[in-house]
Amino acid sequence: MAEQWIYLNGQYVTKQDAVVSVYDHGYLYGDGIFEGIRIYNGNIFKCKEHLDRLFDSAKSIMLNIPLTYQEMEDALVETLRRNELRNGYIRLVVSRGTGDLGLDPNRCPKATVVIIVEQLSIYSEEAYKTGLKTVSVSTKRNIPDALNPKIKSLNYLNNILVKIQSNLSGAGEAIMLNSQGYVTEGSGDNIFIVKNGVITTPPCYLGALEGITRGAIIDICAEKGYKLKEEPFSLHDVYVADEVFLTGTAAEVIAVREVDGRIIGEGHAGPITLNLLEEFRSVVDKDGIKVW
Ligand code: PMP
Repeated sequence: MAEQWIYLNGQYVTKQDAVVSVYDHGYLYGDGIFEGIRIYNGNIFKCKEHLDRLFDSAKSIMLNIPLTYQEMEDALVETLRRNELRNGYIRLVVSRGTGDLGLDPNRCPKATVVIIVEQLSIYSEEAYKTGLKTVSVSTKRNIPDALNPKIKSLNYLNNILVKIQSNLSGAGEAIMLNSQGYVTEGSGDNIFIVKNGVITTPPCYLGALEGITRGAIIDICAEKGYKLKEEPFSLHDVYVADEVFLTGTAAEVIAVREVDGRIIGEGHAGPITLNLLEEFRSVVDKDGIKVW
């Protein structure tokens, strides 16, 4: 197998040499931010949107990214070229950097920047037809006043606790509520429901990441004439929906066939979900930055 090259603070190093200090505050405190991005047929899908979200997350947590926007884009492109990757996943991580054992970020003079690119297969093609079994979990989504879920921070313990709970229930994904009982998102995906032809997704202020895939689906709905609302809804609305689907960079658009033992619609991916997946897949190698 060809050598995998990883971008680490301006250098391209092998996987073996891609190591950061145990004093890095990304490791000690989850202090940092990240992005998950896809490349399809040599096109970095929605590259600008991902980099905008990264720089916004950095601003929000007062993290100084030691690269300009253009330098970051160039580093992404170069990492992909060196790995000859035309289809796959890009993980871009910016941590606070090396400091001391105290949590003060002022003790970390320089952020650590890492870019890892790899092939990806998260769900089988079959899973896109059968849909996922999911459960709602008792762990609530972080409240926006504590750690705003709009920040794609390295601190994913909230999501990990949720994943542990869904694993224990034998489910493939979890549905997280906020402390008022409104549905927010999955452990790593946004959520949509369909009822009588109307598509609804929760507004992100309830406690959800502003997913890039979510945004792409909202745009496709507008273009294709689907009725779409951003409105709060409860678990009851999920249970009685005709279709439920999740969106994310890794998952794309995947149906949910079961929630807490309730069968959704016909118990497999519904027509609107499948149509949106098809429309989504028809733009992923066009909308973005061409590397090859
Ligand atoms: N919510 C959470 C918590 C996520 O981690 C992600 C990304 N995996 C998403 C939603 C989906 O966001 P995107 O479409 O930008 O990947």
